[in-house]
Amino acid sequence: EGRWSLAGSTALVTGGSKGIGHAIVEELAMLGARVHTCSRNAAELEECRRRWEDKNLRVTVSVCDVSVRAEREKLMDTLRQTLGGKLDILVNNAGQSMVKAATECTGEDYALVMATNIESCFHLAQLAHPLLLRSAGGGASSVVHISSIAGFVGFPGLAVYSMTKGAMNQLTRSLAAEWAGDGIRVNCVAPGGINTDIAKDMDPEIVKSQATQLPMQRLGETEEVASVVAFLCMPAASYITGQVICVDGGRTIA
Ligand code: NDP
Repeated sequence: EGRWSLAGSTALVTGGSKGIGHAIVEELAMLGARVHTCSRNAAELEECRRRWEDKNLRVTVSVCDVSVRAEREKLMDTLRQTLGGKLDILVNNAGQSMVKAATECTGEDYALVMATNIESCFHLAQLAHPLLLRSAGGGASSVVHISSIAGFVGFPGLAVYSMTKGAMNQLTRSLAAEWAGDGIRVNCVAPGGINTDIAKDMDPEIVKSQATQLPMQRLGETEEVASVVAFLCMPAASYITGQVICVDGGRTIA
């Protein structure tokens, strides 16, 4: 068992059909993990599954809308079958942004973003706990949340989204403290602007001007987030828990 390997591990990554989640699935699988992932689009998931199979990566897929409690429960049932009830790694990545002035946000907007981004993380972590516990004997069990630098700094038009990301940062510290005795590490990766569909929804001129203002003067790539997630899951990171690591080209330190 290498300190820099995930060989023999099993992982659940939510929202793996696109963007950061897709890169995390590939990174974990390339490092030897068996991975299960989900999203809301069956056709896209199947397309991904086929491409992963062609690359000899061991990835299974199922449809799940993480904002719906009953679907989260069903996902964990599926997992018990596909991964044989053994789960070493949970990556809560699925999330959705909503760019809207705070004064314009409806009750439905608020409920949807909360359910998708934060309630899902808390509940999936709860549901995964017994499975992570079974794996924790080897000390290899861990949870990684994908929050955002929006959980640290204020961006206009992103109040509700940012609230969920701030909450993920705190959930990381709380669960890390509560589950350390169970041998389960809990960490968080907070990306800055990353080249995905989420960034494509924003005004390209704004994205460009934002990018040139940060120390590294560019958006990040999904692989640059995935590598940090993989590291946090490895035995090499065995003394790291409760941390929120920004992968942001220096945006929050400038
Ligand atoms: P993408 O939109 O590129 O991908 C999101 C993935 O999650 C897709 O696979 C999508 O599939 C899935 N997903 C979305 N909603 C749900 C849902 N309710 N249930 C199940 N799956 C869902 O987003 P990114 O890769 O950019 O974002 C991933 C995470 O990273 C998010 O939590 C985001 O907040 C965070 N992040 C992103 C940043 C960026 O600049 N890109 C910056 C900071 C944080 P489908 O829609 O088919 O369900």
